[in-house]
Amino acid sequence: MGEAVVHGTAVPDEIELGRVRVLVGPDRGRYPNGNSLLVVGERETLLVDPSLPLATPDRELPRVDRVVLSHVHEDHFAGLARFPDRPVHVPSADRLGLVSLEGLLTIYGMPPDVEEAWVPVLQDEFHYRPRPDALGFDDGHEWDLGGVVVRAVHLPGHTRGHSGFLVEPDGVCYLGDIDLTGFGPYYGDAWSSLEDWARSLERCRRIEARWYATFHQKLVVEGRERFLDLLDVYEAVIGRREVALLEHLAEPRTTAEIVAHRFVYRPGVELPWVDYVEERSMTQHLERLRRQGRVREVEPGRFRAT
Ligand SMILES: [Zn+2]
Repeated sequence: MGEAVVHGTAVPDEIELGRVRVLVGPDRGRYPNGNSLLVVGERETLLVDPSLPLATPDRELPRVDRVVLSHVHEDHFAGLARFPDRPVHVPSADRLGLVSLEGLLTIYGMPPDVEEAWVPVLQDEFHYRPRPDALGFDDGHEWDLGGVVVRAVHLPGHTRGHSGFLVEPDGVCYLGDIDLTGFGPYYGDAWSSLEDWARSLERCRRIEARWYATFHQKLVVEGRERFLDLLDVYEAVIGRREVALLEHLAEPRTTAEIVAHRFVYRPGVELPWVDYVEERSMTQHLERLRRQGRVREVEPGRFRAT
């Protein structure tokens, strides 16, 4: 097996891992951009997660036979509109989001005022176009491209359907939004789940590959040891949020006070969905701590650490 071939200077614009080409987005694929994957077989070429840079009208597009999404989120389908006549495959559990705008909004689950601001962003900036023809796939589904096979690995938590892909024989594992960044795991949508994250991170630890690629800044990690180290650091963010919440609950607090404190985003970050994501994320921690008896409701709507 060959070595990784890096194209570009200070920041690569493409990384070749055997038959996989990582199309590196601006700023190493920092949101709203991302790093798409092209898997080139003898018979077919698969494009995974067409990111925003592919949507640029003057961008020359690679030959693509079908498109596969790791999950249905705006930064992962942004370039899909440029492949209207190609089959598109999505995790069955997220398929609703690609079939209609209404379905997509169900995945986010935002309150109406936030949703109102979000819809034009989805349509104009992320080029959302419903694909009622989208084909669903499940865990273990394989695409045999000729000399190279892509296998789906269901890793829910980020969304219900979120999936990674293992490309063999090249030994490339693509992890989508299990992105190993300092932000940590994201579970701020209606269809996100902290419980599923725990199971998926456990499953990730057992994936044997030579290279681990992600959609955002970390790009490509070589070697399982290094990957496991980064995964530990990434997972620790969940624990830190929980410890910080427990400290905050030394005094009785309402959900509104928890949201205002900011555990996921830094104080001062002003995005229309911040309060919603804080509430959705931290109420999952709150519920878990209550089940464990570490937090209780001391009066209606006020919670305190025991
Ligand atoms: Zn996502």
